Amino acid sequence: MQQRQLFVTTALPYANGNFHIGHIMEYIQADIWVRFQRMQGSQVYFCCADDAHGAPIMIAAEKAGKTPQQFVADIAQGRHPYLNGFHIAFDNWHSTDGEENHTLAKQIYLDLQAAGLISTKTIEQFFDPEKKMFLPDRFIKGECPKCGAQDQYGDSCESCGAVYAPTELKNPRSALSGAEPVLKSSEHYFFSLSDPKCLSFLQEWTQSGRLQSEVANKVREWLTPNEDGKTGLGDWDISRDAPYFGIEIPNAPGKYFYVWLDAPVGYLASLKNYFAKGGPKSRGDARTFEEFMSDPKVEQYHFIGKDITYFHTLFWPAMLHFSGRKTPDNVFVHGFVTVSGEKMSKSRGTGIDPLKYLSIGMNPEWLRYYIAAKLNSKVEDVDFNTEDFVTRVNADLVGKFVNIAARSAGFLQKRFDLKLGSLSQDGQALLHVLQNAAPTIAQGFEEREFGKVCREIMLLADRVNEYVDANKPWELAKSVENEGALHQACTACIESFRLLSLYLKPILPDLATKVESFLNIPPLDFTSAQTLLGQGHVIGPYEHLMQRVDVKLLDQLTEPAKTEEPPKSAPGGVAIEPTIGIDDFVKVDLRIAKIVDAQAVEGSSKLLKLTLDVGEGQNRQVFSGIAAHYKPEDLVGQLTVVVANLAPRKMKFGVSEGMVLAASHEDEKAYPGVFILNPWPGATPGMRIR
Ligand SMILES: [Zn+2]
Repeated sequence: MQQRQLFVTTALPYANGNFHIGHIMEYIQADIWVRFQRMQGSQVYFCCADDAHGAPIMIAAEKAGKTPQQFVADIAQGRHPYLNGFHIAFDNWHSTDGEENHTLAKQIYLDLQAAGLISTKTIEQFFDPEKKMFLPDRFIKGECPKCGAQDQYGDSCESCGAVYAPTELKNPRSALSGAEPVLKSSEHYFFSLSDPKCLSFLQEWTQSGRLQSEVANKVREWLTPNEDGKTGLGDWDISRDAPYFGIEIPNAPGKYFYVWLDAPVGYLASLKNYFAKGGPKSRGDARTFEEFMSDPKVEQYHFIGKDITYFHTLFWPAMLHFSGRKTPDNVFVHGFVTVSGEKMSKSRGTGIDPLKYLSIGMNPEWLRYYIAAKLNSKVEDVDFNTEDFVTRVNADLVGKFVNIAARSAGFLQKRFDLKLGSLSQDGQALLHVLQNAAPTIAQGFEEREFGKVCREIMLLADRVNEYVDANKPWELAKSVENEGALHQACTACIESFRLLSLYLKPILPDLATKVESFLNIPPLDFTSAQTLLGQGHVIGPYEHLMQRVDVKLLDQLTEPAKTEEPPKSAPGGVAIEPTIGIDDFVKVDLRIAKIVDAQAVEGSSKLLKLTLDVGEGQNRQVFSGIAAHYKPEDLVGQLTVVVANLAPRKMKFGVSEGMVLAASHEDEKAYPGVFILNPWPGATPGMRIR
């Protein structure tokens, strides 16, 4: 079989925050696929990068008092513990602000221009007269033009779901300064996607059977002409005006590529950077980046989440095709992660914190296995459910699989000098079943039907356990007469265990390494599925391979720390809480917040709805039980203190994204009053309190 050559990426994470569980799921999915391909003998380059550009990062960096470059570099530094921790083995990690990306993005643009697909148009946009910049849609807030809901973003209404232009908002405000934005015209650059040749290319590229069927169907909707006869596909605005953190457009001073133009180019830039570092050469590939990319044998795949399908199935292939480059062979789209059925907040990534998962000592391969067991090739959401997690890890992974080795290795060590014996007829039959499953399992991995693969492997493990139960090595061990039968039974178990470990290796790479060392064998790959260790092979002494999940760990993972019962009499009506260390204190992230807006809540006499600027470049909504004590208009413009990392809480009237601090006596009736904290002059939104 000819060696396949694959270039694989995951979506580039936006460099304004740490990874959440959704990122980790995507990386695990891609990593399993890549590891499988390598076990098949394919040559794979697996790359990713930080998506570094755009207004949100520029604004966040400014608030943090850093240059955007420093801000992005600091975020990039934080990536390693996640990737190493979950055994995600990218060959290269780069940044879209890297030199390669600047060069490639400009070249692709110039090639599109030469193909006659770049046009300009003067458009009117909202401009913040205080910050002196054009406002991205997400930085404009106002009332929904359709339903009148307050405090909606400039592109869509979270209340009624309407999509509109920011200029349609009623009473628009800049989320950066609070100022009323003004309309200002500016020349923008467009990629002419409505050009008939683009449309016919995209029809062919998206509808020729490569894409997942539900993705192809969605794209067909986007391409289908509306009633007015136009396609849903308009020209794509690819420029932004200075100030902007991005790549300057050639021959257009003061104009920058919109972040979504240069972000996917970052896939190529990361690979180019890997070539520049000599990665492929060290693996015996003497080609240049350009030679590799123009090799028709190279297959290119992108793993992405469903929310960025539009960019990856329309803009990206069109950009590549019309700039004379190779288009992706496929884009593999997955769903989101939900936690016990609840959607997690994308911006804050609540639910399960991957770093906490690692720091409390949970085995990363439990999560890899669990996610694999839930994944298929469709665009379906994956639910993290703690009971299900415990069952799959403890009953399946440890109970059915790891125990096979644990139950037989001891006898081999005590009675047979760790040497394998012959196989009984039953044992041979069992191993045939296991070996014959190899093509089905390989096909499952290839098609990203990891859940099916896990089920198949667990069925095989069931067969092995039935064999163990039928032969009862622990009974055989009681009598010397059964020495031969015991040796055969244990041999069949170890041979079976090796095959199951091989099949699980893309999912459990660390465990597989331990098994290879335990069994004294070279690295497992799919070709070794058709061989056996054989009589006389000497294994190593058994060492414990994997623990069961302790349910307490999951409680720790999913629940915030509980406080202890307060004693009775005390200052302010409540005793001082038990002593904590500075480590506990710093977990509570207190920030200065500016109250941008305050509103009464219809149907509640207690709550006020506050809109807070915590210096993040976008405002938060917090409900606070102070309606009886403060008039909304007295609060607007004031600074206060907010718990900024409190998990968002769904309340009857909406989601509360933090908590405003206020003082009160425990016995409010005897000592009335609630007092909001107010910093001394000079504090600004986003400053940390410590
Ligand atoms: Zn609305």
